[in-house]
Amino acid sequence: MNERRIQPGAVSKWILRCAQNDRTMGINPVDVSRQHFPSHFPNPMIRINEHYTKLKASYLFVDIAKRVAACQQADPGKSIIRLGIGDVTEPLPPACIAALHAATDEMARRETFRGYGPEQGYAFLREAIAWHDYSARGCFIEPDEIFISDGAKCDCGNIQEIFAIDLRVAIPDPVYPVYLDTNVMAGRTGHPRDGRYEGIVYLDSTPANGYVPAPPATPVDLIYLCFPNNPTGAVATRAQLAAWVDYAKRHRALILFDSAYETFIRDPQISHSIYEIEGARDVAIEIRSFSKTAGFTGTRCAYLVIPKTLTANDSAGNAHPLHGLWNRRHSTKFNGVSYPVQRAAAAVYTDDGRKQTRALADFYLGNAKLIRDAMAKLGFSCSGGDNAPYIWINIGRDSWQFFDLLLNKAGVVVTPGAGFGRCGEGHVRISAFNSRENVTTALDRIAAALK
Ligand code: PLP
Repeated sequence: MNERRIQPGAVSKWILRCAQNDRTMGINPVDVSRQHFPSHFPNPMIRINEHYTKLKASYLFVDIAKRVAACQQADPGKSIIRLGIGDVTEPLPPACIAALHAATDEMARRETFRGYGPEQGYAFLREAIAWHDYSARGCFIEPDEIFISDGAKCDCGNIQEIFAIDLRVAIPDPVYPVYLDTNVMAGRTGHPRDGRYEGIVYLDSTPANGYVPAPPATPVDLIYLCFPNNPTGAVATRAQLAAWVDYAKRHRALILFDSAYETFIRDPQISHSIYEIEGARDVAIEIRSFSKTAGFTGTRCAYLVIPKTLTANDSAGNAHPLHGLWNRRHSTKFNGVSYPVQRAAAAVYTDDGRKQTRALADFYLGNAKLIRDAMAKLGFSCSGGDNAPYIWINIGRDSWQFFDLLLNKAGVVVTPGAGFGRCGEGHVRISAFNSRENVTTALDRIAAALK
């Protein structure tokens, strides 16, 4: 039946006829007509998750893209250098490329072809991680406490699913938006008021605390921490991390420790993992990624660590291992990272892979130093850039206005701090992920624009 040829009123007349003729036969005329004329029956049953309507209307990088597009449209010939978004620019290390090719060849032969792999990840990768990222640093993490995934973003967003809805959640400000938005989506917050969500305990990261917040005075259950930090580039000392572990123990809270930028740590006093802190196995989950370590933003591989000893209670007070809960969630909703990608990630831990990824991070840190020095020379106080690829610049004025000034006068895109939270106002983030040439050109242009 062609719906487009139906005249106005025909549907309701048809329903009436069905109602008269078919009701006696046990046929629901509305069901029949919905089947034939679906566009005439907006479905009254399906409803949205209204927590999504609490999310701020626009995403930071969408706002930035709009302003950049408008600037480019006004002056199509203008050269614009993007030091805003934190995506890598350099190609994959040769060791990873060689492993990808070899694994792809394995997939081409019946004898070595692989279908679904273990949901938790191949043992060869989990063993390499357990040894190089943990044992070698004196941390006790077993391979089967590691879950391989296709991104730290998904892990940061998904992990909250295994916790109760009425938890008290502590989130830094400024923050990588995923921690906050996924808790909003889940319904752990009220509506935003003055840029902050009701029900969240905000951990202010300010110049006064060197952008490393101390544990709050009030008890909370779930704490998001990220060091080296995005966006501030700050790192926490061992003593500061130990204070958080101690707080979590006292309040029986759990720390979600995002160390996606661990590869940039150069100061030997700074912990690469929360598990370097005594007692952290009992209170922390750690999330890491190959995105920035080895340029995997487009290749996709990350991992999440849940010690088997880590537990949380149900409402009756019975303890449940979180490892088992996450394993259930992971194996129900995820079918594993592709074999060639896991081989490429494992190549990061070979001798060549380690040298090459170190050189990659050194390259970005070289950019970061140039940015930090140049901005300091212009009189700004800066954090980050020494153990992180981000430089957080205290501009002491409206961050969107400063963004517009640099975009229009220098053709350089930075990230306005206000987009990361209330405490981000008065700051901008500059990313070191770019070519050396672009970084030096951008810095010359910024210096000229601010003269
Ligand atoms: N965590 C932080 C703090 C990040 O800044 C990012 C990416 O920018 C991620 C996680 C996401 O990493 P992935 O590419 O593994 O999803």
